[in-house]
Parts: sequence; structure tokens; C-alpha cells
Amino acid sequence: MKRREWLRRTSSAAALTLGGGVTAMTQEKPGKKTTTAATLQTEVMRLKLRHTWTTVMSSSDYRENLFVRLRCGDVTGRGEGAPIVRYHENADSARRALESVSQLVAATDPWHFEKLMSEVFRRISGEYAAKAALDISLMDMAGRRLGVPLYRYFGLDPDDTPVTTYSIGIDTPEMTRQKVREAEQFPVLKIKVGLQSDEETIASVRSVTKKPLRVDANEGWKDKEEAVRKINWLETQGVEFVEQPMPASMLEETRWVRSKVHLPIIADEACLHPTDIPRLVNSYDGVNIKLMKCGGMLEAFRMIQIARSLGMKTMLGCMIESSIGVTAAAHLSPLVDYADLDGNLLIANDPFSGVRVEKGKLILPDGPGLGVMRAADAHVGGE
Ligand code: MG
Repeated sequence: MKRREWLRRTSSAAALTLGGGVTAMTQEKPGKKTTTAATLQTEVMRLKLRHTWTTVMSSSDYRENLFVRLRCGDVTGRGEGAPIVRYHENADSARRALESVSQLVAATDPWHFEKLMSEVFRRISGEYAAKAALDISLMDMAGRRLGVPLYRYFGLDPDDTPVTTYSIGIDTPEMTRQKVREAEQFPVLKIKVGLQSDEETIASVRSVTKKPLRVDANEGWKDKEEAVRKINWLETQGVEFVEQPMPASMLEETRWVRSKVHLPIIADEACLHPTDIPRLVNSYDGVNIKLMKCGGMLEAFRMIQIARSLGMKTMLGCMIESSIGVTAAAHLSPLVDYADLDGNLLIANDPFSGVRVEKGKLILPDGPGLGVMRAADAHVGGE
């Protein structure tokens, strides 16, 4: 059987099941190797937040994320996508995006993940959280088949993980103080600002702790003079850097602001993909890279290398995610200067366990692939 014919038959017989049960299907490949078609299962799960999560952009009590199980033979890779409205994505659109490449996934050897993800990027416009879910499941599967944790696959030392910040969403002064107290074990906090009440928020935090702070305005300051005023004031409040002070589109204004302040300015909403980075060099000191913005671990790895080669600071962030998404990012964290990988800690019903935090430092799991387990299994295992 010629390769083209084999691909056609494999594709037409694809056993990929979305939203339903998983059906494994074995397919003989010509030549010496026997390969098994990968089957993919998706599920939308509601993650409940411990506290109502409020930023300049939105306020919510729960998030709906897309969970993926990719099975090939007796190995299953898990992935997660956390779509957000800022990027015009939601769990249903993410699920539909993966359905559209179901035949492709079933027909491609999962070892060829680089080629598969390139083709997925070519076929799907947008929907980066969906792409991230597939990418993470492929990487988890590769690590499991190799029997190594993903940090080892990428050649990284798990002792090099940075401290993660713990994020304090916008809230009343009383709740802000309570949240800061709850975050006692974290040596550095990330405070959401971007409103008229910024001074009051910082005063509430400072009434409870002297810890270093990092501040995220989420594009909240629309006026460049106001941004300079706020940043220079924040410098007197023990703040280490400011994330996305002005709207992503205001590149020139941000460049002007940067020339008037001493604190480093980090791009988040302005930095989604590898191609965004070069034009940010003069307006920002660093970039906040997220798997859900760029489409997975492979793309995030590329972004870290590009930013570093341009002399920029690097940070890994996350959305509201379970331990699957956060652990995937954490495996790359030995490469970056800063981490804000607390999305799993902000939810009350994390279905999984993976990366842990000890006094703020990220502790990577040693199991193969992501090293994540169902939370119930982890409990039974005594962790
Ligand atoms: Mg941010």
C-alpha cells in the first residue's frame, strides 16, 4: 500500500471522538513499524474560582475550559485550553476548532508533533487556546512514551524554576487585605490595578505586607501622562515592574511612558505570538508569554528564545487554568526571569494535581510527560 493510500484510509477510518467516548483504532503502517492512530476526546469543564476574579477586563465566578485526552495505544496525553473573551475565544469555539482537525490528528503519527502543529496552525485561524490544548496533549504523550518529564525533554534543570507570584484581583479594601493574608506563603505578589481606585488598592495591600509587588494594569491606563504618574508613584511603593500599563495598540505612547519611568515595563496583551516580539523592543523591557495566547509549549519555547535573543526579560504567565495548563507552562519556567503561574491556585475544584509551590518556588513533578494526575488519584497515592 502506498503512503498516500494509507493516509487516505487512515483518515477515512479515523476513530477520533469529540465529546463522546474514546475509541482506539489500530492501523498498520507499511514497512517495519506498526502505528496506532491517535484518538482525541474533548470535554468542557467548569472551574470554580475561590474568589470572584476581577480585572479591568472582566469579572467572573467560574471559567469554562476545554480539556483534551489524546490516546495512542496505551498512552494518554492530556491537554487544556483556557479561552478568554479578550481574544474572542470560548470553550465552544475551541471545541469546534479541534473538531475541524479531527481527521488530521487521527491520520498523523503523534511523534510528528512539530509537523502536525504546523498544519493545525495553517488550517485554524485564531483559537490559540484550542491549539494549546492539542499541543500540550502531544507533548505530554511524547514525554510519557519517552519516560521522561517534559523539563528533561527540553534540557532544563528543575532546580532553576523561579518563584511564582500570587495574583490579587481587584476587590474591596477589606477583601484585598484578606486575600493578601491568604497569600502568606508567596514572597512576591502580583496586584491587579488599572482603575481610579489604584492608590486605595495598593494602600490596602501595604497595610498588611511589605513584600515586593508586581503590578498589572491590564491596559487600564488610557492616558500616557496618567500612566507615568502612576508608575512613578508605584516605584515608591516597593513595586518591581509594571505589566501592560496602556492598551496594546498604544505602542508609541508606551514607548514614551517607558522613557519617563525607571520601573521595567512588561508586555502582556501586546505580546501574543513570536512575530509580535521584535516590534516591542523599544516600548517594553520584557514579555509575558502564555501558552494560551501563543498556542502551546512549542510556540512558547520559541518565544522565550526570541525574546532572550533580543535582550528582553522573559516571563511565563497563565490564564485561569487547572494544573494541566499551569504545569505545562511550569516545565518551561527554568528558562524565564519571572513566573506568574498561579491560575490553578485561584480555583476551588482543580481536577488535577501537578506542579506544586513551596514558599513561592515552583516544584516540578518528576513523572513522565507533564507528570499530572487526576486529583483523586493523587489523594489515593498519599500526596
Ligand atoms: Mg497580565
